[in-house]
Amino acid sequence: MVNKDRLIKGFCNMVSIASVSGREAAMRDWLIKELGRRGYRADEDGSAAIVGGDSGNLLVHVPAKAPGKKLLFSAHMDTVEPGEGIDPVVDGGIIRSRGQTILGADDKAAIAALLEALDVIAENQRLHADLEILFTVGEEQGLKGAKAFDFSLLQAEMGYVLDAGGEPGSIVIQSPCQNEIEYEVLGRAAHAGINPEAGINSIHLAAQALAAMPCGRIDAETTCNFGVIQGGQARNIVAEYCRVGGEARSLSRSKLDKLTASLTQTFCAQVEKLGGQAKTTTRLLYPEISLQPGDEVVRLASQAARSIGLNPRLIKTGGGSDASIIHGAGIPCANLGVGMQKVHSCEEYIRICDLLDVTRLILAIIDQAVAQHPKNESM
Ligand SMILES: [Zn+2]
Repeated sequence: MVNKDRLIKGFCNMVSIASVSGREAAMRDWLIKELGRRGYRADEDGSAAIVGGDSGNLLVHVPAKAPGKKLLFSAHMDTVEPGEGIDPVVDGGIIRSRGQTILGADDKAAIAALLEALDVIAENQRLHADLEILFTVGEEQGLKGAKAFDFSLLQAEMGYVLDAGGEPGSIVIQSPCQNEIEYEVLGRAAHAGINPEAGINSIHLAAQALAAMPCGRIDAETTCNFGVIQGGQARNIVAEYCRVGGEARSLSRSKLDKLTASLTQTFCAQVEKLGGQAKTTTRLLYPEISLQPGDEVVRLASQAARSIGLNPRLIKTGGGSDASIIHGAGIPCANLGVGMQKVHSCEEYIRICDLLDVTRLILAIIDQAVAQHPKNESM
């Protein structure tokens, strides 16, 4: 039922349209045209101005042909760099780039699979419940498009983001929440050789504060890292100012809150004890996902995977995705494995069999949402 040649052609077509984060307009236009050809209207939201790009998110509504759970599917339109002039090569059972660019299977494999699923549904007049499809921008720049999206526009009762590594059948049920942490230290400038006694070296203070703090893995579900330090003006000036940038993540919100508070408390106490002033800013970048195997959104995907002969694998990950934002907005959401490999590198590729499987999985999820509805159980 899935048309392999059409799927490959569609995928190759769309990866050759450059859509590096912030410059997704050409991809947006192509999608509006392709969806229009299929009889669907794609509405762009106003997030372009918020994210500072040339395109907003696109939302498509596919009206129900049968009662059932209302589903959201989501994939991102943007890619990382180098993502201009992508020339896909079908090479045996895989699709790769020529090697000078990424391939863009992250996340266009998902978009190709979604469009192919829509074609299969139309051709076979398959029954389906209400479907909402959200194509986001700026995902690779920190989930910017999803964060700017107005979720009150959606009716979906649960959602699937198609943007995880791992073969189709992988279902990410746990992902961390993350805080961005910034510390600024103010000391006092002085000549390093003539009167260092008059100065307070902010870099030295930050170093001593950091040395008193944990770094790296805190426990099985919690990590922290300080990855940036900037400051100072010259070798012979006692550094008046420096800034330390870092992050903390945990699968548990209470652990994240506790760790962040204790890091900040230690940092400030150390700096102040040594005569400096500390200013701290922390910001939640995205919330956690903590789904259980029995949750409906997980069960439905697992049953769908089994129904097409895939082995459902429930996994956890150490990073956020658009699913974090959607789930945080109140729509239970899992991130599904698409099969993209070596993403964010010029060796990126995808196996054609995975591209086919993820399309079948989308169709099977859509089927399950109808089949499990009480009114349709005799079907
Ligand atoms: Zn992605």
